[in-house]
Amino acid sequence: MDSITSVHVVLFPFMSKGHTIPILHLARLLLLRTGITVTIFTTHANSPFIRQFLGDIQQSLISVIELEFPSNIPELPPGVESTDHLPSMSLFIPFANATKLMQPDFERSLNSLSTSGGVSCIISDGFLGWTQQSAHKSGIPRLVFYGINNYAMTITKVLAMDRSHVGLGPDEPFILSDFPWMKLTLNDFLPVFNGSETEGPHFEFVMETSIATAKSQGLVVNSFYEYESAYLDYYNREFIPKAWCVGPLCLAEVQKFDRPREKPDSIKWLDQKLAEGRSVLYVAFGSQAEITEEQLREMAVGLERSEVSFLWVVRSKGEVLEELEEKVKGRGLVVREWVNQVEILRHESVHGFMSHCGWNSALESICESVPILAWPMMADQHLNARLVADELGVGLRILASNGSVRGFVGSEIVEKMVKELMEGEKGEDVRRKVKEAGEAARKAMEESGSSWRTLDQLINETCRRKD
Ligand code: UDP
Repeated sequence: MDSITSVHVVLFPFMSKGHTIPILHLARLLLLRTGITVTIFTTHANSPFIRQFLGDIQQSLISVIELEFPSNIPELPPGVESTDHLPSMSLFIPFANATKLMQPDFERSLNSLSTSGGVSCIISDGFLGWTQQSAHKSGIPRLVFYGINNYAMTITKVLAMDRSHVGLGPDEPFILSDFPWMKLTLNDFLPVFNGSETEGPHFEFVMETSIATAKSQGLVVNSFYEYESAYLDYYNREFIPKAWCVGPLCLAEVQKFDRPREKPDSIKWLDQKLAEGRSVLYVAFGSQAEITEEQLREMAVGLERSEVSFLWVVRSKGEVLEELEEKVKGRGLVVREWVNQVEILRHESVHGFMSHCGWNSALESICESVPILAWPMMADQHLNARLVADELGVGLRILASNGSVRGFVGSEIVEKMVKELMEGEKGEDVRRKVKEAGEAARKAMEESGSSWRTLDQLINETCRRKD
């Protein structure tokens, strides 16, 4: 490895777990290299999670700066500093726009860091597009992190430029000429990317952040080359700024940082299931999916009827939870609190993962060689599900009762697909493929692997101080 001297990296994750966790993994990876120090910017309310997550990392190498999250934004509930706690994702844009008010504070702190030794580069979330201006003012290179894969990134960009699909029905299949093997539908994309939303606050936000990204020095992508080489190569040939694959970042989780602790109930429950061999379906939909009560009930019926044991992490609140717990007891365990998802996926009892296909969850499943039952809900998840099921063959796909990629899913489909993943022939096939993918992922993150070398190269080319 090249020796990297005197590099100070500022990390600024967006305020949601799915965007913060991979950046914290990146912090760990950076600190495994000699001569690098890291400063993480966040807000007061997000800081305890970050500090706890970083655990035993050497304090002299990392510091956390807490900014004031703007209060008194009329649309936002007071005290909410993370999208995970928003009452509805319809408040995402006011939330993201509120972060812009932190710019003066951020720039003051950045200036004082610059005078006390300098900042080599800023890696900030794509949703924090305004940090591009701050970086530019201070003459510091900025790299952008979106938390999406090359496949979603490339297809979305190509779609935005190829207008031949505009006007098609939401479920009408079409192809993009450079990717003839893919049968896509407009429903696979957010309206703001598929040409059906061309004005309004969401559209403006996407435009603003995309322009900021185009001015940045590069994209840090949480994926690995061997897995998505066709899409990464295409992206870097056709678009700017350059994308660098440095993941799967979840593999930066180093056990020696973890303190010994009492096992959580979910792990004790999985331990008990060991007697039945690999038999448990893990069910979780990330930190922000909004699922209707009607859909949750239908899911519970399907899970029950599949006769498979399952561990179900449910973020929804209210009476429906008690009802679900009652319905599934005996066969399933319903967990309401935050779990260590990687620890669950790593458990010997776990045989499959019903997932919303948030990119972190999908990668974590692949790295632990657990096949995925993809049930996407929003954002980039529909494309991730296509990548997982159609391109890589490491998972099966749940479709709505009307055959669309979006919409209500009946219990009979849940039952059938769970059985197929856990006991069927197709399940066996994806299990074999996910094992291979897991091995390739681990290789990419070894010191001689593609992702490790790419991160070294990225730091050397972009962040090394010219002194
Ligand atoms: N996660 C976790 N425990 C939970 C819920 C989520 O550890 O109870 C982690 C999960 O492992 C992943 C992240 O939170 O790293 C969620 O990111 P993802 O992209 O999968 O979904 P999002 O929450 O952004 O929709």
